[in-house]
Amino acid sequence: MENCLFCKIANKEINSEIIYENDKVLVFKDINPQAPVHLLLIPKKHISSIVEIEEFDSDEITELFKAISKISKDLELDRSGFRVVTNTGASAGQSVSHLHFHILGKRNFNWPPG
Ligand code: 5GP
Ligand code: ZN
Repeated sequence: MENCLFCKIANKEINSEIIYENDKVLVFKDINPQAPVHLLLIPKKHISSIVEIEEFDSDEITELFKAISKISKDLELDRSGFRVVTNTGASAGQSVSHLHFHILGKRNFNWPPG
């Protein structure tokens, strides 16, 4: 989608520090990290938020969750624990309207979140 920051990152029109990718998903470092490990996981296809996921997006959904599992093992986040967050809409502070999962690790996290 035009003028979407994360579509541009997915298309390599904007540089990012890529950690993992396949034909459906991309994982890259967040530019403003909130933890020693702070990655963003996106579908390469434009989906605005988790609310906009459609039935025909099942390949994307599968690959998103497989990527979380793979990254957690590759970076050894699975040992100590990690957090996956998808801010959705204004009150949750979603600032980029392209579905993304924050993968945060290597520190302790509070509950409930702020
Ligand atoms: P949200 O606030 O929508 O949940 O998350 C958007 C995230 O994108 C933020 O954590 C922000 O730091 C990150 N971000 C914004 N612009 C860029 C960028 O150009 N490159 C990268 N790598 N991350 C970005
Ligand atoms: Zn997009």
